[in-house]
Amino acid sequence: MKDIDFARLARKNIQSLMAYVAKETPCRVKLDANESPYCPLALDDILSKKDIFSSLNRYPDPESKELKKAIAGNLKVKPENILIGNGSDEIITYLISAFGGPVLYPAPTFVMYGITSQTFGQRHTAIPLDKDFDLDLDKMLKAIRKENPKLIFLSSPNNPTGNCYSTDRILKIIEASDTIVVVDEAYQPFSSKKGFLPLLYDYRNLAILRTLSKIGFAGIRTGYLIAHKELIEIVDRTRLPYNLNSLSQALAIMGINNRKIIDVQIKTIVKERNRLFKELGKMDGVKPFPSEANFILFRVPDAEMVYHKLIKSGVLIRNMSGVVKNALRVTVGTPEENNIFLDSIKKALIKR
Ligand code: PMP
Repeated sequence: MKDIDFARLARKNIQSLMAYVAKETPCRVKLDANESPYCPLALDDILSKKDIFSSLNRYPDPESKELKKAIAGNLKVKPENILIGNGSDEIITYLISAFGGPVLYPAPTFVMYGITSQTFGQRHTAIPLDKDFDLDLDKMLKAIRKENPKLIFLSSPNNPTGNCYSTDRILKIIEASDTIVVVDEAYQPFSSKKGFLPLLYDYRNLAILRTLSKIGFAGIRTGYLIAHKELIEIVDRTRLPYNLNSLSQALAIMGINNRKIIDVQIKTIVKERNRLFKELGKMDGVKPFPSEANFILFRVPDAEMVYHKLIKSGVLIRNMSGVVKNALRVTVGTPEENNIFLDSIKKALIKR
């Protein structure tokens, strides 16, 4: 067989690209991926909707019309302001493929803004956050003037730091140029802040990214973009045909119509987040950072050691020490899972 060097055949920007790592480390308690610990739909309810399964031989609705209507009704916007994606990851891909770079974002933040920019061979610039993990407005405005970006991604609440950026700083960035500012509100449901949806019709260059992944539906990969009709129409040109499968469309609609259950689950998660924050803060050498999301970033004296000791005790969290020194990120689980995490980390912090 011929010895073919595939790496050499790949485009230059792919040769140096590091893939997004979603490591599967089987653990009794899984608190590493910012998923919800709860599924908002009961199996019996799903199975009672037989029509979901009766036409799997057909392609799904290519435009996810019913799902758009359900989301639009829920958010009080028009369906024409919505684009549906196979997860919000896919929408990030569409945005960058439609508008290209330069792409600008603060750091540390969600890694897919950088990875996707590089995939498309687009210039991308990361501007460090300030010491409170808020936007460094001077640096951001300077970078906007210098780079003239087509797209700015602002994850608020931010992954992995957990905080929301100051509203006035985000507004100054939206007002600073004609650049498209994507406020990624993946974690908005857990935040005490209102988010940017009420401002949608005030700013033409504002686009809001949301997802069902964090509120109980990570498995059905459903995200959506809310923006002006003309922006949606352009992004839609890059969308793959039938991008959201029919099961996901149907289950997402059921989920959205089940809003009351989701809201109760969100309240429990927020209460548990606040408890985890308090408990972590009491531990010697641990500094949790305030969070408006369904996870907490926290600093320990030796992140590597604590991370591996937790795995040994059956608890998987995320090691973030590559982006914030000695930092770990824990997703809020059920009260029982959180108790196991708290017990395990107390033991893991003891140096032996
Ligand atoms: N944005 C942010 C800030 C995220 O943290 C994530 C998930 N890690 C996503 C978008 C992607 O979410 P999904 O593709 O599951 O909708």
